[in-house]
Amino acid sequence: MLISEIFYSIQGEGELTGVPSVFVRTSGCNLRCSWCDTKYASWKPEGDQIDIDQILTEVRKFPAKHCVVTGGEPMVAKGIHELMAALRQEGYHLTIETAATVSPVGIECDLASLSPKLSNSSPDPGEVGDGWAEKHEELRLQPDIIREWINHYPFQLKFVVAGAGDLDEIKALVAGLGEDVPPHKVLLMPEGNTADKTREHENTLIDICRDNGYRYCRRLHLDLFGNARGT
Ligand code: SF4
Repeated sequence: MLISEIFYSIQGEGELTGVPSVFVRTSGCNLRCSWCDTKYASWKPEGDQIDIDQILTEVRKFPAKHCVVTGGEPMVAKGIHELMAALRQEGYHLTIETAATVSPVGIECDLASLSPKLSNSSPDPGEVGDGWAEKHEELRLQPDIIREWINHYPFQLKFVVAGAGDLDEIKALVAGLGEDVPPHKVLLMPEGNTADKTREHENTLIDICRDNGYRYCRRLHLDLFGNARGT
């Protein structure tokens, strides 16, 4: 598998914020979000081809009980089902961070951290090239696939929010799923690659969360480490 990085840190986002975790970042993505903060694993995928045994050897070096498989988009990584099954054998609590555009088909997972992409993610066609802007628009929201994930796994629905104007889109998407999604399972995360930038959106998001029962999702790793690889 093409692996961008394996590192030990604390979870910076979502329900498990603060939990020491080993992160496995696959490289490669089927989307091209304008504000992507891991372009080295998506727009310009970098990394090394590493087999599952080698990945396990690296992961075992850390004293973590929790493992977060992220990307890029881990669900497009060749061998992802085998990797998750192998990590399951090792006894880890498994989180998968995915944009929920690919069906889970029975993948091993304890927390599906689903991050469907709103229209604020759309890239500038001139910047991304090769028809990626159109591909991104066609693929970024897959309600049937989101439904499949939330019906089979413990989940959280994380949205990157760039402003109050995103609220209608979030409400329409959640309502359109036609499923019982408790509001506290909907996490709003401020857009931004730096702690200062995310704070610009903070008050707006907190007001939206208070009004709708959604959960405010701070990006703790930006506060603690900045936008740095391996954190
Ligand atoms: S889905 Fe995630 S990794 Fe892929 S481009 Fe969007 S933010 Fe980046």
